[in-house]
Amino acid sequence: MFSKVLIANRGEIAVRIIAACRELDVSTVAVHSVADRDCLHVLLADESVCIGPADSLDSYLNVTSVMSAARITGADAIHPGYGFLAENAHFAEIVGECGLAFIGPSADAIRLMGNKSEARRTVAAAEVPILPGSDGPLSSRDEAAEIAGEIGFPVILKASAGGGGRGMRLAWDPDEVRRAYDTAWNEAQRAFGDPTLYLEKYLEKPRHIEFQVLADSTGRAIHLGERECSIQRRHQKIIEEAPSVALDPELRAEMGKAAVATTRAARYENAGTVEFLLAEDGGFFFMEMNTRIQVEHPVTELVTGIDIVKEQLRIAAGEKMSVPKRKKIQADGHAIEFRINAEDPVTFAPSPGRITDLAIPGGPGVRVDTHIYSGYTIPPFYDSLIAKLLVHGRDREEAIVRGRRALQMLRIEGVKTTAPLHLRILDNEEFVSGAFDTHFMERFLA
Ligand code: ADP
Repeated sequence: MFSKVLIANRGEIAVRIIAACRELDVSTVAVHSVADRDCLHVLLADESVCIGPADSLDSYLNVTSVMSAARITGADAIHPGYGFLAENAHFAEIVGECGLAFIGPSADAIRLMGNKSEARRTVAAAEVPILPGSDGPLSSRDEAAEIAGEIGFPVILKASAGGGGRGMRLAWDPDEVRRAYDTAWNEAQRAFGDPTLYLEKYLEKPRHIEFQVLADSTGRAIHLGERECSIQRRHQKIIEEAPSVALDPELRAEMGKAAVATTRAARYENAGTVEFLLAEDGGFFFMEMNTRIQVEHPVTELVTGIDIVKEQLRIAAGEKMSVPKRKKIQADGHAIEFRINAEDPVTFAPSPGRITDLAIPGGPGVRVDTHIYSGYTIPPFYDSLIAKLLVHGRDREEAIVRGRRALQMLRIEGVKTTAPLHLRILDNEEFVSGAFDTHFMERFLA
């Protein structure tokens, strides 16, 4: 096992990684921007290094600064968390070239899956179902219109280098495809520095279902079941749960097999997530693979009892994953995660500022992953996620009751949060019934 891990991230995920390191008796180095001096991950780590000004381009995204901090402190591995440098193949390569371990998959696997049109081709060759669409990148707006005509409308144009729900455009007719091509091209160029686009059939009422996978250097690759992530706003997840009410054991086995086939096709090692769209008729299609730990990983941890971050460290250190062989992993009960953002719960305007008072709920079946504390000032420069409130119950009904109770017991004073929004969602009949799709939030907010 490593002796010292540098965490190239901030906030709740940095705290989560420190927890895993502590349990494995690995010491930790926090890096932070000037604006994050008082962030909990800095206070909890064994050592900390300031790597630059508030702007993440000059700190958390600055490879030279991060690598210097690793050198100075003598870290032997780097955990990138999610966001920032987590899916940067170049960074993973540099970490390796400097003789450190990157706690994540290989640079090749990151690069392959980071190019979404290439990823489609790779998984299709492994007999994983994909939506009808372009075979690789599009070369012109006319080609886009032609392919869309062949597969039928509506279609969605996406950036090959895309992520975070950006660079996507829907089109319902050939003229709209041509226009969408230009806007998406410009948006992708601006957001990712790469305008490459691809296109696929747009499903009108899908669910977003993703599978957590683990693969180690012994050649073992397994899945830990699914997460239901259809509760999204502007393609950003708000609530995630496991298991999904939409999957029966047969479909779960079939999708799980496709997730593992994807993992193998990418020669993937470490923890990852394979995202699918599930159509109303039970057909499922590969969407993308996220080559990092996900925000919503604790949902899977609650129902499987597996500490995914500790497994990441073991795998990166060349050890076997510690999940017993031949054991079919079954979800035990039901878990739900509520993302608590420092935002106005009605307008979604960011609400940074000082937390004047804080009470974190506990009791049966409650887990809170957070970096905030009473007196902490949320800086305006980063993601608005300030806490993940998770509940676990014997079944979905109990998880919902617990969720309501825990959200009522959560007190965050001084800033606005999305906790009241979650309470309203829990009172919504459609949510409670479980019969929803990715457009739930649009209907709910209307
Ligand atoms: P990103 O990597 O930017 O998050 P994804 O490809 O994961 O982009 O898609 C994000 C969300 O967009 C999905 O969860 C789903 O709600 C919607 N989406 C993407 N592709 C399709 C599609 N072909 N049909 C319907 N909805 C889609």
